[in-house]
Amino acid sequence: MCDYIYSDGSKCQEAPLEGSRYCALHISFEEGEKLVWREKLEELKLSAVARKLQAGDFNFEGAYLYTFPLTWEVLEEFGIKEIEDNIILSNANVLEVIIRGREDKPLKFKDLLIYNANIQELYITNSQFHGIYSIPSTVYGILSKKTNDLVEDSNVSIVDPNLFKIEELQTLLDSNCYVGKLYIILCEGSTLWLNGLKSLTIVLSESNVTDIWFNSSMITELVLGKNLSVSNDINLKFSAIKTGKLIPPIKIGGRLYLNYTNIHSNRFAVEMFNLAKRLFKESSRPEDLDNLEYHFYREMVARRKWKVELAKEDWKITNKKSFKKLFRFLLVKFGGILEWIFLDVPIKYGTSWKRLLSIWFSLVLIIFPILYLLTGTVPGIKSYWQAIYFSIVTATTLGYGDFHPEGLGTFLASLEAIFGTFMWALLITTLGRKYLNSS
Ligand SMILES: [Zn+2]
Repeated sequence: MCDYIYSDGSKCQEAPLEGSRYCALHISFEEGEKLVWREKLEELKLSAVARKLQAGDFNFEGAYLYTFPLTWEVLEEFGIKEIEDNIILSNANVLEVIIRGREDKPLKFKDLLIYNANIQELYITNSQFHGIYSIPSTVYGILSKKTNDLVEDSNVSIVDPNLFKIEELQTLLDSNCYVGKLYIILCEGSTLWLNGLKSLTIVLSESNVTDIWFNSSMITELVLGKNLSVSNDINLKFSAIKTGKLIPPIKIGGRLYLNYTNIHSNRFAVEMFNLAKRLFKESSRPEDLDNLEYHFYREMVARRKWKVELAKEDWKITNKKSFKKLFRFLLVKFGGILEWIFLDVPIKYGTSWKRLLSIWFSLVLIIFPILYLLTGTVPGIKSYWQAIYFSIVTATTLGYGDFHPEGLGTFLASLEAIFGTFMWALLITTLGRKYLNSS
């Protein structure tokens, strides 16, 4: 019999290979390849796996495998309808684990146990399972000693919200999986590729990763840091994040992309967009300039909302009857509205002069002339062209004096004069900010 002893104390029942004390499953790659050709060893190991699967035995503790294929084709071939057990790969050394169900028929099993396993690549596709390893939900145990590549393919759902903590992980790939809590701690040199992730909580700290891909994700809480170091970019585009925390120190070598991402908490939005802005500022790539403007604009909007939110909370928390606090809140609120009208709507906080110009032209060339014509409050104006002429002369405060507004017209004309000069001032500021200061 094979000399391998399972963790429950029982002995492996397989026959050992000739020249070894271990069976095809438990013989190490090194020892096995000394006895037979690698191709032959692969074949022996695969047929040993097949024998076990056929017998309904899913315990591969301590096995050395080049490939562990658990696909619906294999299961169908062996007439296995459902796996009610755990799949055990604890203490195993596997180059490639493939667990793959059918799109219309997910592969169901209880847990995947990979304690102290050394798995180079783990692919899980179209599968439904409880957890990646089984531990009581109150304890975040230690996962495998080393899992080099954990590749999560599409349509994976990990139902138990408490089970998912990864340590010493190298690559976490692909997407569309649901995890309740994802703790990524002590992660070295990895690319985290989890586009389309749905998660309640993501905690990413004490790690050294190369890239993070969390595009199109829905995250309830995102905690980044402390001692997080990302050598390249963090991608968080098209996502929805409810709230989160940045705990320094955080080192990001590349950029943080938050394009089209909605961060519900204004406080966290300010933190994140500010971080993104600073990273784009450090970059010297010309294409980052637009991103710098974009993230700056998003930060300013979040700041405006946060200010109002803080004043409101302050009033609510201290004392609802405090008129001083209420007054302060209303003042801040009013300030926010003014900021929106004068800085956000026309120029997006100095990031868009095109928007300002189009507003200026549509008001001066279309809306005001029509108002003058309709109200008939500027005597002498008979055609639309004359109305445009009067409107331009008023907006630029040239005031040649060949037409004189009356009644409501004087009000309209003063409004346009104020608006016209203010807009020019804004335009010059915006252009200056965008093209003269940007170096
Ligand atoms: Zn054995």
